[in-house]
Amino acid sequence: MFSQLTLHERLLKAVAELKFVEPTPVQAAAIPLALAGRDLRVTAQTGSGKTAAFVLPMLNRLVDLQGPRVEIRALILLPTRELAQQTLKQVQLFAQFTYIKAGLVTGGEDFKEQAAMLRKVPDVLIGTPGRLLEQLNAGNLDLSHVQVLVLDEADRMLDMGFAEDMERLCKECANRQQTLLFSATTGGAALRDMIGKVLNDPEHLMLNRVSQLAEGTRQQIITADHDQHKEQIVQWLLSNETFKKAIIFTNTRTMADRIYGHLVAKEVKAFVLHGDKDQKDRKQAIERFKEGGSKVLVATDVAARGLDIDGLDLVINFDMPRSGDEYVHRIGRTGRAGGEGLAISLITHNDWNLMSSIERYLKQQFERRVIKEVKGTYGGPKKVKASGKAAGVKKKKTTDKKGGDKKVAAKRKPAAKAPRNAPLASADGMAPLKKRAPAAE
Ligand code: AMP
Repeated sequence: MFSQLTLHERLLKAVAELKFVEPTPVQAAAIPLALAGRDLRVTAQTGSGKTAAFVLPMLNRLVDLQGPRVEIRALILLPTRELAQQTLKQVQLFAQFTYIKAGLVTGGEDFKEQAAMLRKVPDVLIGTPGRLLEQLNAGNLDLSHVQVLVLDEADRMLDMGFAEDMERLCKECANRQQTLLFSATTGGAALRDMIGKVLNDPEHLMLNRVSQLAEGTRQQIITADHDQHKEQIVQWLLSNETFKKAIIFTNTRTMADRIYGHLVAKEVKAFVLHGDKDQKDRKQAIERFKEGGSKVLVATDVAARGLDIDGLDLVINFDMPRSGDEYVHRIGRTGRAGGEGLAISLITHNDWNLMSSIERYLKQQFERRVIKEVKGTYGGPKKVKASGKAAGVKKKKTTDKKGGDKKVAAKRKPAAKAPRNAPLASADGMAPLKKRAPAAE
């Protein structure tokens, strides 16, 4: 029960108002340690309740501070504008019975208006690294009184190339007493490096063992012959599956626009979300999708990162994500807060090895699904018997390390040469799917 956490009564009142009864696992683990003043490194995905896990102890520290508001006392750094807006809403809800005020500094919004907001000095500032630095360099921001620094989705900020900006901003918060770092994945060397630099003797809380993820979500694959065939399957799924809201993920902006165009042509009401859209359009698409103005959103990973959408119960991977972690992020959007979800990945010959590497990473096998109305010719690699002949095939396979010889590749044992979990291509929007190497090692 929340009441067992030693939170200020004004915060408990807000928690009750939001009808939160039981803390989620990440809240139960992180809140007491954060209240005790520890630095934390928390591995937990979006949808786990991680926002309240850092916002509540942060507000608890600030709630009793008296006197006029003269300094920024807490900074939440995060990767995207959408996540920043959602986090601001949560801070405002939790702080509704206190005098604590929060402000937002992200790109895509009016610079001067932000500067004016900063002159009023919010207690809690939430922002993306790029614009925060611009405001800092313009002399509009003083972070020297920040007591608590939160790095939310730190792994994603690093993926997006914000390492230097993050370090600079952390240095600006030189007098902080506590740093809380949240990431959805365990991350790589860059994250370890950042942790070493910004955290002080942190407690590491692992709340999302990958294999335990998405328990409420069924995960299926449907094989497809090519992109046009995938589009037919998508149409079929949208017409025949029962769902409240669906996201279709693509790896590129071009493909997102293309699918969106086809859906609109077929009179399916949909929105599209990717990095080329201006901030106003993105905001509008998210708001209208949340409100139920459309049941379908087509999105790239970066654009959809961190979105918390109620009732999202269908995720379609039009393109297979480029790594196991990205897959986890995508499907983590369904089955949130205990709901049921369905995640369907569309797999062509080129996607197969990547898909099976993600299965191995997650230590689970996706359900194979065939829809007879839209069945194509490709059904996955042909099974090879473990006989002398098969051994011959195996030898040949070694010459096929780069996945170049299609005939041999089709005879492979499934996943025999699949890549380990690793990003296979460049960042969002860079490499058209068709040109992607089938399975670079
Ligand atoms: P987050 O992972 O912070 O994006 O939270 C995901 C969703 O779960 C949000 O809509 C929260 O409002 C909701 N949520 C967070 N904590 C709780 C809780 N203890 N009880 C019920 N819902 C919660």
